[in-house]
Amino acid sequence: MWSERCEDTKCFMLGLQRRNPGEPEFHQAVREFVETVMPFVLEHRKYKEAQILERMTEPDRIIIFRVTWEDDEGNIRANRAWRVQFNNSIGPYKGGLRFHPDVTLSVLKFLGFEQVFKNSLTGLPMGGAKGGANFNPKGKSDREVMRFCQSLMIELHRYIGEDTDVPAGDIGVGPREISYMFGQYKRLENRFVGVLTGKGLAFGGSLVRTEATGYGCVYFCEDMFHQIGDSLSGKTCVVSGSGNVAIYTVEKAIELAGKVVAMSDSPGFIHDSTGIDAEKLAFIRDLKEVRRGRISEYAEKFDGVTFYAAERPWSVPCDVAFPCATQNEINLADANTLIGNGVQAVCEGANMPTELAGVHAFLEAKILYGPSKAANAGGVAVSGLEQSQNALRLSWSREEVDAKLKTIMQEIHNKCVLHGKTDGFVNYVRGANIAGFIKVADAMLAYGVV
Ligand code: NAP
Repeated sequence: MWSERCEDTKCFMLGLQRRNPGEPEFHQAVREFVETVMPFVLEHRKYKEAQILERMTEPDRIIIFRVTWEDDEGNIRANRAWRVQFNNSIGPYKGGLRFHPDVTLSVLKFLGFEQVFKNSLTGLPMGGAKGGANFNPKGKSDREVMRFCQSLMIELHRYIGEDTDVPAGDIGVGPREISYMFGQYKRLENRFVGVLTGKGLAFGGSLVRTEATGYGCVYFCEDMFHQIGDSLSGKTCVVSGSGNVAIYTVEKAIELAGKVVAMSDSPGFIHDSTGIDAEKLAFIRDLKEVRRGRISEYAEKFDGVTFYAAERPWSVPCDVAFPCATQNEINLADANTLIGNGVQAVCEGANMPTELAGVHAFLEAKILYGPSKAANAGGVAVSGLEQSQNALRLSWSREEVDAKLKTIMQEIHNKCVLHGKTDGFVNYVRGANIAGFIKVADAMLAYGVV
C-alpha cells in the first residue's frame, strides 16, 4: 500500500479511502488539502520521494476508550471517547475536545488533520490533535456533566501533559467542562500545570482566549478586505451559530462597524434587519452562556425579528458570511445563493463549514474566501499564548494578548498571500495549505524515516 506512487489527487484519494473506509469527513478534508498541495509536492521532489503526503495523512496514534458515569437518577451510562494525536513534528499535540452526539472517529480525524496545518500557520510550536466524545451535554445537569468530565479524565490523563498533548474546548466543551476536567487532572496527577487551555482566569487561563477565535476570524476578514483596499465597515454580515465562536465574531464585527443581521442555532435562525447591536448581543450571551436557551427567544424578545425554524441563514442577502456553527453547513446550493446575492467575503469561524463543491464555487466566483484553517486559527493561537504564560508563571494584559492575536492573524494572512496569489487574485485555500504544509513537512524530513 505504501509503495504506491500517486502523482494526482484521484489516485491518492483512492488509496486513502481504501485505508480509511466509512470516514467521509476525513476524506473531504484530505481531498481539499491534497488538491492544492499535490502540485507543490510534485514541483519539490524531496517531499514526494519521502512520501510526505502519505505519512501526513496517517495519524501518529488514536486512543479510543469507554467513559462510564452515573446520571442523576442513578442510571449507569456509557459513552465512547477518542483522542486523535495526529502529528507532533513541530510541537506537543494541541487541539480541542468536542462533546456532541454526532461525534465520530471520521469527524475527529478531519479536525485533527486540519489542526496540524492550522497550528503550523500560527507560527507557534504546536502539533495537531483533536478529541471528544459522543456525549450530549445538552439537557444534562451540571453534576452530570461534572461526573462525565471526571470519568473521561481518569482515562485521558495518561496520554496528555503540558509537553505531550494539551487539549482545549470545542463544540459542547466550554469553560464549565474545561474546569471540571482540569480539576480532575490536578487531583489525579497532583501537579498544577498548563495541561488544558481555555481555563478560568483564576487558575491559569489567558485573557482574550474566550474571544480569540471570533475576534481572530474578524481580524482575518478585515485583512482580506484591506488586501483589496476595502474594509468591513458598513458591510451587512450573516453569522451562523450562537456559541463561543459566533458570539465573539459578532462582537468584533459590530466593533468594526459591520451590521450583523442574522444568527442561528441547531433549531433555526433569526433575521433582524435592523441589526444586532451590543445590547442585543448581551441578551444572546446571557441566553446562550448562562441560561443555555434557544435563539428563537431572541425573536420573542425584540420587535421586527423573524425566526425561521429548521433553516440555515444563507438565504439572507449579505456582503459577508461568517459560518461559525459546524462542518458542512454550506452546501453548493447555499454557496450559489450567497454568490447570487452578491456576497463579497466568506470567512470561516467553524471548521470545514463549506462542502467542497461550495469551496470550488467561491473560488471560481473569486470572492474573498478565508478557509477555516487560516481564518479560525486565532483560538489555538491564544491557546498557545496561554501555554506560554503558564510555563512562565505569569499573565499578560488583555491589550498585550489582543495585540499578539492581531499580529498572528496578519502574519497568517501574509503567508496565505505569499503562497496563494496569482494574477492579482489570492486563493487563500492554496495559500493556507501550502504555507501550513511546508513547516511540518520540513520537520518530518529532518527527522528521517519516522
Ligand atoms: P459552541 O460554543 O458549542 O457553539 C456551537 C454553535 O453551533 C451553537 O450555536 C450550536 O447550536 C451550533 N451548532 C452545532 N452543531 C450544529 C448543527 N449540526 N447544525 C446547526 N447548528 C449547529 O462551539 P464553538 O466553540 O463556537 O465551535 C463552533 C465551530 O467553531 C466548530 O466548528 C468548532 O470546531 C470551531 N472552532 C472553535 C474554536 C474555539 O475556540 N471554540 C476554535 C476553532 C474552531 P446548538 O447549541 O443549538 O446546537
